[in-house]
Order: sequence, then C-alpha cells, then structure tokens
Amino acid sequence: MLALRIAAVIAAAAAGVLTWTLLEYMIHRWMGHDRRFRRSPFGVEHVRHHIEGNYFAPTWKKLIAAAIFTAVLGPPAILIAGAPLGLAYVAGLVGFYGVYEWLHRREHTHPGTGPYGRWARRHHFHHHFADGRTNHGVTTPLWDLAFGTYERPSIIKVPPRLCMAWLLDPATGAIRAEHAGTYQLGKQTSR
Ligand SMILES: [Zn+2]
Ligand SMILES: [Zn+2]
Repeated sequence: MLALRIAAVIAAAAAGVLTWTLLEYMIHRWMGHDRRFRRSPFGVEHVRHHIEGNYFAPTWKKLIAAAIFTAVLGPPAILIAGAPLGLAYVAGLVGFYGVYEWLHRREHTHPGTGPYGRWARRHHFHHHFADGRTNHGVTTPLWDLAFGTYERPSIIKVPPRLCMAWLLDPATGAIRAEHAGTYQLGKQTSR
C-alpha cells in the first residue's frame, strides 16, 4: 500500500515535469516568437535574449514566473488529485521549470558534456542562429516533434558578435577544434 502511494506521488511529479515541457514549448513558441504576443512580458525579454545573445531575464522575474505557475496550477491540482498528489504535481512542474532555466543558461555559458549536453546545445543554437521557427523546446525535442517544428541541425553558423565564449579558442579567436565540425563562424540566417 505504501509502495503504491509512493509510486503515485512519483507519477504525479513526472506528470508535472511533462506539463512543464509543454509549457516551455508553448511559452517560447507563442509568447516568444509569435508577433501577436511579442509585447508580452516574456516576449519582450525573449526578443532581447535573441538580439543580445548573452542577456537573460533577471532572477526576480523568474521567481515571479515560478510563483504564478504555483498559484495558478496548485489549487486546481490539489482539488482534483488531493494534497499529496497535487503538491507532487506542482513540485515536479515548478522544479523542472528551475531545471529548464539552469540548463538554458548553461547552454549559453558552458560547453555541453555527454550526448545530451551536446544535443541540447545544437538543438537550441539551431533555433537561435539557423531557423527561429524551429526547435522551441530547450529540455526535450518531444513537443517540436509533436507539433512539427523539429529540425535536425546541420553545421550551425554563429555570428561572431553573438558567439558563445565556450565555442571559441581564446588563443586564435576561431571555433575550437573539437566543435569545428558542428559550428562555424558566419552570418546567421535567422533571429
Ligand atoms: Zn527563441
Ligand atoms: Zn537561448
């Protein structure tokens, strides 16, 4: 009985994580990139992130976003599923929102380790520099695949002005040898 209860709490948290990945896709695709919503608080911050490359919305705005997710989704989740499961759902969702914010920043500031780290960067920088209408998911390709916006990156051309420091060899200013087969300096084709 206890094992069943624990499994239900884990499943509720996993459902929260999955819900976040859908929100991540929808907020980025529509509030970030649809002209109709570009003046929304997220849209304004996101356009600046694309234009400046190393700009991220301040932490206090992210904490407000986390508070809004909790306030809007918490009460209905607890009403529908009861306190333990509803709280686990919201904790999974808001916790993974934090993971998303951390991962997105790391993608811009640090080279990726392992297949997932390398994939996540290529997926995201294809969105930044090759085609901003594709690859809206940051933590997973799931919703890009579901909504038909997934694109497998080829060599990504990164404009020098926006190039991530981890991609460059400080001695030469060129792309580091280990990334030369997957990234190039050049004119971006999208914003
Ligand atoms: Zn974007
Ligand atoms: Zn980004």
